[in-house]
Amino acid sequence: MGRVTLSNVTKRYGDVTAVEEMNLDIQDGEFVTFVGPSGCGKSTTLETIAGLTTPTSGTITIAGREVTNLPPKDRGIAMVFQNIALFPHMDVYDNVSFGLRLRDYPKEEIDRRVERAADIVQLEGMLERMPDEMSGGQRQRVAIARAIVREPEVFLMDEPLANLDAKLRVHMRTELQRLHKELDTTIIYVTHDQAEAMTMSDRIAVIDGGHLQQIAPPLTCYNEPANLFVAGFIGSPSMNFVEAEVTASGLLTRDFDVEFDPTQLSEIAEGDAVTLGVRPEDVYLREDRETVANPTQPIPARTDVLEPMGDEIFVYLLTGDGDAQMEIDAEAEAPQNQLLMSVDPASDVAADTDVEVVLDRERIHLFDTESGEALSHGLEFATVEPGRTGTEAEGDD
Ligand code: ADP
Repeated sequence: MGRVTLSNVTKRYGDVTAVEEMNLDIQDGEFVTFVGPSGCGKSTTLETIAGLTTPTSGTITIAGREVTNLPPKDRGIAMVFQNIALFPHMDVYDNVSFGLRLRDYPKEEIDRRVERAADIVQLEGMLERMPDEMSGGQRQRVAIARAIVREPEVFLMDEPLANLDAKLRVHMRTELQRLHKELDTTIIYVTHDQAEAMTMSDRIAVIDGGHLQQIAPPLTCYNEPANLFVAGFIGSPSMNFVEAEVTASGLLTRDFDVEFDPTQLSEIAEGDAVTLGVRPEDVYLREDRETVANPTQPIPARTDVLEPMGDEIFVYLLTGDGDAQMEIDAEAEAPQNQLLMSVDPASDVAADTDVEVVLDRERIHLFDTESGEALSHGLEFATVEPGRTGTEAEGDD
């Protein structure tokens, strides 16, 4: 069935390496989304699977058959693109059945397939409509129906919702999930929109610079990002990153300390440069800290700008009083005294006010600053008691 395997697939265009040493094993019936910034190699990877381009090296198998050098029509795949190219002078029936008629399928078989596809994408009763009598969403459903009638082992979709308006995109997300359930076929989907990736996929493959960064279920990428890139890319607004140094009693950042016993994490040692990551929803006002089982010590900050979103308020915080307690690499990308916090819309937090915030230690991520690799997700460890060394530390929580 529709299992897709990429082994060491590399694609170069002259000096440009679009995809490098890509290894993927996509299971039969899985919905996998390639996500990443523009130019990261998502489409090129999909095109190598589709047969629209040949890899410079590496092999591709679909349904147990090596297809690396086969033309698209012999691969058992069907594609849906961003640009819905329907024939304007043909009605829905003719558009959907075009490929089958070209291949001289018997009339009854064509009718059976078109009816089933129209039923799945909910276009019953519209088979005689012309494309210009349909909405963007309906036209996209025609394009999907045209793929369905081919009864492929694998559907390949390249940003199929990109040209639809925001509301319709959200609607089509649920339609595609329903479609996947109904067809029970492998779907490989490309998008730069992480909300699409998060909501529809069994697993997402996060790609950057032609390299696979992580392939995992959406919530694993969110809660346990493999590296700084995934941590920053998945989640909106982005995770806060703060440069830190490992000390005997925890972490020292420019403006605050986080106490924990570093000896409990074998990957780090005193003096190491690490990056602390914490999502806006894991930063709390001090008065709300009873909702957090394991808060850090209060961190003094000043509120800057507020962004009320309706269901939450984003609060931009400035930590510290300007005097750094730790020397910061001048090349550090993000300003080191900014922290974004998300609070309940009922909160009476105001702009330009001194506050204290705490971080949920169980939701603090640590990354190796140099390699970007994740070292830990959560610091629910014992703290070091004053006057004692790390190895003798006892838990206080
Ligand atoms: P994405 O789909 O993630 O936006 P692409 O796979 O389209 O990225 O492109 C990856 C990289 O390969 C980019 O740097 C792009 O400019 C380059 N590239 C893609 N297709 C071609 C091509 N036909 N010729 C030359 N360079 C290409």
